[in-house]
Amino acid sequence: LAVGLHLEQPHVRVGAATRSSSHSTMFTVDLIAVGNEVLYGEVVDTNSSYLAARLFENGLEVGRHVTVGDDIASIVGELRRSLETSQAVIMTGGLGPTPDDRTREALAELTQKPLESLPELVERIRQIFVKRGIPMPEVNLRQARIPAGAAYIPQKLGTAPGIIVEVDSARVYALPGVPHEMREMFERAVLPDLLERSDGVSEVAVKVLKIWGLSESALASQLGDLERALSARAADCGATLDIAYLPTLTELRLKVVCRSEDGRLGVCKQLVDEATQEIRRRLGDNVFGEDDESLVEILDRLVRQKGLTLCCAESLTGGMVGETITRLPGVSAWFKGSAVTYWPEAKQKILRVPKQVIEKDGVVSARCAEEMAEGARKLFDADIGIACTGEAGPKPQEAEVGQVYMAVATPEGRRSIGVRLPGDRERIRTYTTTSLLDFTRRYLAATTLGSEATRGK
Ligand code: ATP
Ligand code: MG
Repeated sequence: LAVGLHLEQPHVRVGAATRSSSHSTMFTVDLIAVGNEVLYGEVVDTNSSYLAARLFENGLEVGRHVTVGDDIASIVGELRRSLETSQAVIMTGGLGPTPDDRTREALAELTQKPLESLPELVERIRQIFVKRGIPMPEVNLRQARIPAGAAYIPQKLGTAPGIIVEVDSARVYALPGVPHEMREMFERAVLPDLLERSDGVSEVAVKVLKIWGLSESALASQLGDLERALSARAADCGATLDIAYLPTLTELRLKVVCRSEDGRLGVCKQLVDEATQEIRRRLGDNVFGEDDESLVEILDRLVRQKGLTLCCAESLTGGMVGETITRLPGVSAWFKGSAVTYWPEAKQKILRVPKQVIEKDGVVSARCAEEMAEGARKLFDADIGIACTGEAGPKPQEAEVGQVYMAVATPEGRRSIGVRLPGDRERIRTYTTTSLLDFTRRYLAATTLGSEATRGK
């Protein structure tokens, strides 16, 4: 079981997702983030990443993202450019009450219509302040103004309504910049409208496989020419299939995406199913889950099925393993606790790691990890003890930087594994946390411990 886990620098490789002529019939949506604070880097444009992901998941083509300052000419310029190629534009930001928010004026200029105050919007805004029990600043009435003939999206969470203007057959949706207000309005009003307008234009099926314990290059060699074979098969069915590798600190995501332009969702789904089955066959238990499932959720399911309890002993992670487990609600059913033992003396006193192990093998050793796991098991009176110890750096003290040992102790015995993890201190600590949870998952998936056969022993 002494597989050296080796992770490479995360990078993103996305399959050929360019707008070729074959995509020209797709319903394309452009995104424009408005605001000086976004332009100058004070605020990270999470609105566009949220919108792009949601559009993509719903089979809509994302044309481009642009960021512009609170400036009428730049906003109008980018809107005109987008409207040349896209059927819809979603803008976020610049709908605030103060004169430095210019989205409204830009829409008036684009449509060549004057801004008009709508009585029902004035009333809505007044009501918001009545409810809050504070006087309404006059400037807020600016938010009741929309270009003549435009539609609006009633505001539920803040004061600014969204605005919809139509230019030829394309639509521009202007949403507030505040992320939770933007998301609510998008989901309630914009996405349904887009789906209706794009009906039958494009379909997409997506499945994410979650992997741990394989390097990206090992993954690539195991998948070999599979991607090309699958793409060719998809092309025969009039669809396109892409596989993207998205490594993170907590999982390697393999995203299989199949799209078709003529409403053949069934075909797309079938192709994605076939692809993921074949990938699973090749990668075996390196695949730990699908779509939204996290490693801790998988662990939660396994431990519950077997009716076991678990505890932890941590050194270099300083509590991160316990923190990661307890983020999932309901783990108190089986998780007893985690002992953070940083000093060698703490390992001895709290976990009863024998002095000679520390002196002979060192604290960064397989033996020490095993003793820690067994010590935790006794300390917490749990069925399973898991542990990690290692050198997080930046300077090597006990061992080479990135050298980590993990162990599982149960009534069946002890298992340990040594790995060399890449990266800086933070990455090593996070990789260790994920690796220990994954090591435990693999152990639990294989063991008969706690199953009907041994229960009650
Ligand atoms: P409101 O009427 O609620 O002020 P608004 O349309 O005026 O809405 P902005 O003033 O542009 O929105 O932005 C409000 C806040 O929303 C900003 O301070 C910023 O923190 C956040 N925000 C704006 N644009 C983005 C974006 N693209 N991504 C993430 N956050 C954003
Ligand atoms: Mg603003």
